Amino acid sequence: MDSLLFEDMELSPKIKKAIRDLGFEETTPIQSLVIPPIMEGKDVIGQAQTGTGKTAAFGIPILEMVDPDDESLQAVILCPTRELAIQVAEEIKKLSKYKKTRVLPIYGGQPIERQIKALKKGVQIIIGTPGRVMDHMYRRTLSMSEVKMIILDEADEMLDMGFREDIEFVLDKIPQKRQMLLFSATMSKVILTLTKKYQNNPQLMKVAHHQLTVPLTEQFYFEVREKNKVDLLSRILDLNNLQLALVFCNTKRRVDQLVNHLQTRGYLTGGLHGDLSQNQRDAVMAKFRKGQIDVLVATDVAARGIDVDDVEAVFNYDVPNNDEHYVHRIGRTGRMGKTGQAFTFASGKEIYKLRDIQRYTKVKIKQLQIPSLKEVEKLKKYRFLEEVKKYIDSEYLGKEVQLVEKLMEEDYSSLDVAAALMNMVLEKRNISESKTTSDFGDTGAQPGKVRFFINLGLKQNVKAKDIVKAIHEVSGLSSTSIGRIDVLEKFSFVELPLENAQDISEALARTGIKGKRVNLEPANKKT
Ligand code: ADP
Ligand code: MG
Repeated sequence: MDSLLFEDMELSPKIKKAIRDLGFEETTPIQSLVIPPIMEGKDVIGQAQTGTGKTAAFGIPILEMVDPDDESLQAVILCPTRELAIQVAEEIKKLSKYKKTRVLPIYGGQPIERQIKALKKGVQIIIGTPGRVMDHMYRRTLSMSEVKMIILDEADEMLDMGFREDIEFVLDKIPQKRQMLLFSATMSKVILTLTKKYQNNPQLMKVAHHQLTVPLTEQFYFEVREKNKVDLLSRILDLNNLQLALVFCNTKRRVDQLVNHLQTRGYLTGGLHGDLSQNQRDAVMAKFRKGQIDVLVATDVAARGIDVDDVEAVFNYDVPNNDEHYVHRIGRTGRMGKTGQAFTFASGKEIYKLRDIQRYTKVKIKQLQIPSLKEVEKLKKYRFLEEVKKYIDSEYLGKEVQLVEKLMEEDYSSLDVAAALMNMVLEKRNISESKTTSDFGDTGAQPGKVRFFINLGLKQNVKAKDIVKAIHEVSGLSSTSIGRIDVLEKFSFVELPLENAQDISEALARTGIKGKRVNLEPANKKT
């Protein structure tokens, strides 16, 4: 089933506007499959892997169905966990930005009195864990009499967690005349029993995986935190001195944000997505062809219509929600017998999506470690020196030589002059000198390591394993590369490998440890 452009779908203007604000351009495969039958009022079973957009697949039709003037509860979504309930509630709230709808997550762990108060104000959609929903039904703080839609989200998980009886309790109390949807990554006998008992002639919609031919592209991925993605992208662009890169994002908003970030960092960048006018798109493409843009950032839809094959590298800034998109994206590089490179950035749950993609495309995507700032600098300097040599060989510098001689008459050596000028250029280009061994002084660390003072300790509930985890997240280093860690009452010490010490300490200062801001300094030997 082909993807549909949200703009072309028969949705109410208010919902379309919210989808536009989210930056979604086209449906994911499961969305194309299930949204039309759900909108027709059919019972549906939707089977798709995690991260494929199932929330909006039912969220959009629910919001279309809800009558804003009817204050009663009209839709119930059951989720396995509190986190998922909150996440689903948030996505539905975003989708209902212009069609005001009262949405409430209810889950165990939160004081029931607070939920009762919120429910009394009139809620049209609840997203709850089965146990807590049942609890409210017993207390008669939830009336199911006007419910028109019931959704089981992540049904397999809920059943694994032993919620079957609770789910059935809820389903038994919901009006017979209603629409029921069930979403799950996997199917099982129990699920089929449930659908048989409670769904009315359900349509099973499953995303089919075609055999895909994967192009000759070297494929890599990085496990990286969302907030470090821009940084990583600039490092790889710099390290490989890429002049022609195509970067894919999953939404229009993500394209705009990334273009802004890259422009601030001085890259020649342009963005392409469906909200731009034809003129704007043409202007970006003209610049790209003239070499005035080094990094083109695009959504899948926008990239489809353009001729930008044969780029040096493709980046998946977001892991696509559709494995065919992955193959199309990476196929933009490595044309005509050349091997191009594709880099995928996976943060958090995106790792699972990437695993699915590997499974279906049967390709090997190799993990890379995030390059250190130091490596990037070394390369930049090397390139700079090459540039200087080329310049000396190719330009006539008589006048400048005279200027240098003038300084030499004032007792400056030509070496000093050259060094000063280099520094001036390097500073301007932001190729700053990073700290060398001796700059740290003697921190009392074992050889090859630097000992850092960290202003967090037991009192802030920080343990050695939290420090290891934070270091691993910013650098990929495992605990074996990290030296001694001492956690004291109000502060801690950690030994970091000399070559990464500066990078890691800077990165930690940005990201924090266990969500807390942190200050790191090379330790004093005495401490
Ligand atoms: P699932 O429930 O299948 O695991 P989610 O509904 O949580 O997946 O969606 C995963 C991510 O994809 C979310 O960040 C969501 O906002 C985003 N997303 C959903 N639909 C689209 C779309 N059509 N285009 C781009 N991003 C989408
Ligand atoms: Mg989900």
